Amino acid sequence: APPVVAIVGRPNVGKSTLFNRLVGKRLALVDDTPGVTRDRREGDAKLGDLTFTLVDTAGLEDADASSLEGRMRAQTERAIDEADVCLFIIDARAGITPTDAEFANLMRRHGDKTVLVANKVEGRKGMDGLYETYELGLGEPVAISAEHGEGMADLFQALDEHF
Ligand code: GDP
Ligand code: MG
Repeated sequence: APPVVAIVGRPNVGKSTLFNRLVGKRLALVDDTPGVTRDRREGDAKLGDLTFTLVDTAGLEDADASSLEGRMRAQTERAIDEADVCLFIIDARAGITPTDAEFANLMRRHGDKTVLVANKVEGRKGMDGLYETYELGLGEPVAISAEHGEGMADLFQALDEHF
């Protein structure tokens, strides 16, 4: 079976944009099981000569606020457990938020399979935010723009090293 890669991080960092870029039209399966897995999406992804199953964790926009944190955590933990590699996405333009720091605490417990990814750095905008990411204790971030397709060679390199 191909390796499983999970995209994790707080809402709005660009997880689904990256998923769509790597999976394109090869969307294999939509799991609309009610509950925490409601908006989980899986697809066959390609990056260079790498092929893998990509999992997008998400869709908490319409969860009620009281349960949002727990749902986000449960969905993320399940995805992490099932994944061979986790792409932990932060928004370099927004900098590190308290929610990012919460996620980082979780990801550090799975540091061996976590790749820190700083998104939204097209045209080198948001590069200042990259320095803050070192505080997360997850190593050097891979800088990308999911929307504009920048940094995909570095992402390839990081995944290749983990497979
Ligand atoms: P998710 O909630 O983590 O899945 O984030 P989305 O993929 O839905 O993206 C959230 C917002 O960030 C959308 O408005 C995207 O267009 C925007 N976005 C995603 N990737 C980039 C990027 O590389 N650069 C910029 N400037 N915006 C991006
Ligand atoms: Mg999303």
